[in-house]
Amino acid sequence: MFSAANYIKVKSLEEAWQLNQKRSNKIIGGMLWMKMGKGRIQTAIDLSGLELDRIEETDEYFKIGCMATLRMIETHPELNRYTSGAVREAVKNIVGVQFRNLATVGGSIFGRYGFSDVLTVLMAADSSVELYKRGIIPLREFAEMKYDNDILVSVIVRKTPARFSYMSVRNSKTDFPVLTCAAARYENELILSVGARPSRAKAVSVPEELANKMMNEDTAAEIGRYAASQLSFGSNLRASGAYRRHLTEVLVKRACMKLAENGEEEKSCL
Ligand SMILES: Cc1cc2nc3c(=O)[nH]c(=O)nc-3n(C[C@H](O)[C@H](O)[C@H](O)COP(=O)(O)OP(=O)(O)OC[C@H]3O[C@@H](n4cnc5c(N)ncnc54)[C@H](O)[C@@H]3O)c2cc1C
Repeated sequence: MFSAANYIKVKSLEEAWQLNQKRSNKIIGGMLWMKMGKGRIQTAIDLSGLELDRIEETDEYFKIGCMATLRMIETHPELNRYTSGAVREAVKNIVGVQFRNLATVGGSIFGRYGFSDVLTVLMAADSSVELYKRGIIPLREFAEMKYDNDILVSVIVRKTPARFSYMSVRNSKTDFPVLTCAAARYENELILSVGARPSRAKAVSVPEELANKMMNEDTAAEIGRYAASQLSFGSNLRASGAYRRHLTEVLVKRACMKLAENGEEEKSCL
């Protein structure tokens, strides 16, 4: 567990940003990841007084404040309707409900953890992050950036028409994932996002001629092989790189079949 010499509940993002420029000061989200570490922080910077613990919905987008919790995105009816339940599916195995009531979207996305279900699912969507100083940048770009002292204010998910599906493999329920996989079918694009390889999630755009083939088991398997060929895999105590490559082929295939199923369900509801 870390310790902090001072605690400041800031009154503005500018105050938080100024404080955060000092390396020994730290923004705090739900503190669930931070408390796993040791060391001493000079000032813990709390954003909880800035009304960022909400999800705003307009006709064009969902804006998820950085202090919104994982439980809030898990139980948000419209966000889950838009993502075909993929957001709920992605976070439901993260430890337990009490944990998800504390863990924040800001801490989850700013951390860009290699194992992140949250990063994987939001990366398949048309998402951007709002940073206090740098402004709005695509999540896929943010995921590759180095850590800096900016503040993640919100995550914006545009309501670009799409169908989604989400899959993960865990050695045991609620453990860190061995592989995460999200698929999104847009009008003109099929995007796959694969994480826990064990590095940060990465998005793969499937070439048009393959993405537009009639979806069946053979096409889904071909897309799985294509996705695996575009990504790198590593080994850690949970699984080998070779096993992750194999899982990618299997999960991508299943995620594509699920997309097709979701499409059929939509048609039958019309
Ligand atoms: C035991 C355990 C198991 C987990 N299992 C999973 C899992 O299976 N799948 C999964 O996806 N995730 C998992 N996680 C990660 C978890 O879901 C959260 O992503 C993580 O705890 C970070 O969220 P937090 O609110 O606790 O952030 P904190 O711990 O408070 O902060 C994390 C980092 O982000 C910085 N930060 C926080 N908010 C901001 C902000 N707004 N702007 C800039 N910087 C900020 C902090 O300074 C810190 O460096 C697990 C975590 C733990 C501890």
